[in-house]
Amino acid sequence: MVKISDIFICQQCGYCCQGETTVSLDENDQKRMIKHLGKQREEVTRDFWRQNGNTIQMRTVDGHCIFYDNGCTIHAGKPWRCTQWPLHPSILETQDNFEIIKESCPGINRELSYAEFCRKFSVLLRLP
Ligand code: SF4
Ligand code: SF4
Repeated sequence: MVKISDIFICQQCGYCCQGETTVSLDENDQKRMIKHLGKQREEVTRDFWRQNGNTIQMRTVDGHCIFYDNGCTIHAGKPWRCTQWPLHPSILETQDNFEIIKESCPGINRELSYAEFCRKFSVLLRLP
């Protein structure tokens, strides 16, 4: 039986929460975050979000997501893209995608070949 930990174990390094931009929040992300924070939309918009073109993102503070403090402080309310990272299906498309994500995330199992990683990842995704 394949387990996520066969291909990925988070090292809590925080790299994925750093940078001057964050992932964008779709409508479901926004609702989940508002509910999790127990605040009004206006408060959350004012205190935690920023508009970037047509998208809503989380604000950044000192070069990292506003919810990062030695780890994610909003686990149950975080955007789906944060939940998915780093196991993005694009890994299965090309080895270049795999290498780019591997470079960005030390939690990816480096012992596995690309083919073996994809085989296990496909099982986890329940792909045929
Ligand atoms: S970059 Fe990878 S290992 Fe580091 S915190 Fe993010 S998911 Fe975990
Ligand atoms: S919501 Fe959490 S996991 Fe996502 S970028 Fe912010 S701190 Fe990181």
